Amino acid sequence: MTQTAVSDASPGVSRGPSTPSVPGISAIRATDPAIADLIAKEAERQETTLELIASENHTSPAVMAAMGTCLTNKYAEGYPGARYYGGCEFHDQVETFAIERAKQMFGCKFANVQPHSGAQANAAVFMACMEPGSTFASLVLKDGGHLSHGMKINFSGRYYNPVHYPLHYDVSHKDFERIDYDAVEKVVLEHKPKMLLCGYSAYPRTIDFARFRAIADKVGAILMSDVAHIAGLIVGGAHPSPFPHSHVVTTTTHKTLRGPRGGLILTNDEDLAKKIDKAVFPGMQGGPLMHVIAAKAVAFGECLRPEWKTYSAQVVKNAKALADALTKLNYRITTGGTDNHLMLVDLRKRSEALTGADASKWLEACGIISNMNGIPSDPRPPKVTSGVRLGTPALTTRGLKETEMSAVASLIDRALSAGLAGEAEFAKASAQIREDVRRLCDRFPLPH
Ligand SMILES: *Cc1c(COP(=O)(O)O)cnc(C)c1O
Repeated sequence: MTQTAVSDASPGVSRGPSTPSVPGISAIRATDPAIADLIAKEAERQETTLELIASENHTSPAVMAAMGTCLTNKYAEGYPGARYYGGCEFHDQVETFAIERAKQMFGCKFANVQPHSGAQANAAVFMACMEPGSTFASLVLKDGGHLSHGMKINFSGRYYNPVHYPLHYDVSHKDFERIDYDAVEKVVLEHKPKMLLCGYSAYPRTIDFARFRAIADKVGAILMSDVAHIAGLIVGGAHPSPFPHSHVVTTTTHKTLRGPRGGLILTNDEDLAKKIDKAVFPGMQGGPLMHVIAAKAVAFGECLRPEWKTYSAQVVKNAKALADALTKLNYRITTGGTDNHLMLVDLRKRSEALTGADASKWLEACGIISNMNGIPSDPRPPKVTSGVRLGTPALTTRGLKETEMSAVASLIDRALSAGLAGEAEFAKASAQIREDVRRLCDRFPLPH
């Protein structure tokens, strides 16, 4: 594959230290300049903005290259050694590498690397473990759960019966905004769910998997740990492992794991593994995305290197540094801080009028990318919210450390202060903040 700098092939894109190269772009440009231009612009956007979305990351060139290969041409329905199509010799070997590396990463016995996404992985596990209408217990979306954990209009809420356990909502409680494990137990004893889910999309604290397992065992429930957000930290030893406590573990591969977009299912239980394989294919999916599975194998290889420990530890150190710096600037971080890669910023302490929607819009105009997020007991609706969710996996990938986190916090505060000062003030200040963001990005280029 040729490595063509965007600036060579596209006179419309500015040159300079922040002009990224896009492998293979010349081939796209030759037949489809409109799409090539958009890809080039997106590469430039990623290179010149600070990515603080907690569920995103920057994959390595090797991971991206694996996705752009001829493996996409192949039908490989089935599993290694048991396919429904000819010509799968090398696909069997690729998938076996991905499976073996996944097992090694999590220290478990079985892995299914075929789910197209995290939600698909969860759907397959539900299909393997429950009947339509079965009850399961989870954290509700507005408290930090995921839509595939029982949102009413999601498959999980339409075809199954979710019951939800709470956080501590009492501000005077020492565990304010953290999981209320006693209440989890109460909900589980009352509803006797088939499955108990833990693992979240917007929860900044360590999950006590052993405690969840003890609760699940009281009613014989299957403990499913959806570690979509924290998988990379687990592999790097920066968060406790869901094994041996969990019956089944699901994750995405594109968040802290820094792989291609996709899902992954893990277990130590052979019977369950067989049911899961059947639920993924032919239950949920047809042909696996073999080019993505190759990219998963490459990403897992990266996770198994010694540097991964350093990366994961730095992600957590950076999150703590960012949370501390924002606290000093008069923002409230829910639960008082973070143990992992993300934090929820309650904006109301800084200014009662400040909403998540305004904040994320102003930040984006300054080149700081985040998402609005409800905070526990948020009085504002999901499209407004009182919070933003910030995460450090992507910034850590490009090499930022604690010192830069203070700089990032100060850029965030400048952007929001300018926004609060009114449109004219924002127009004046945001151009300079955008320039300062660009300069910081230039010092920390993406992996090429
Ligand atoms: C992101 C996420 C998922 C689903 O990921 P998709 O790949 O977007 O389907 C599932 N569970 C949790 C907890 C997540 O945060």
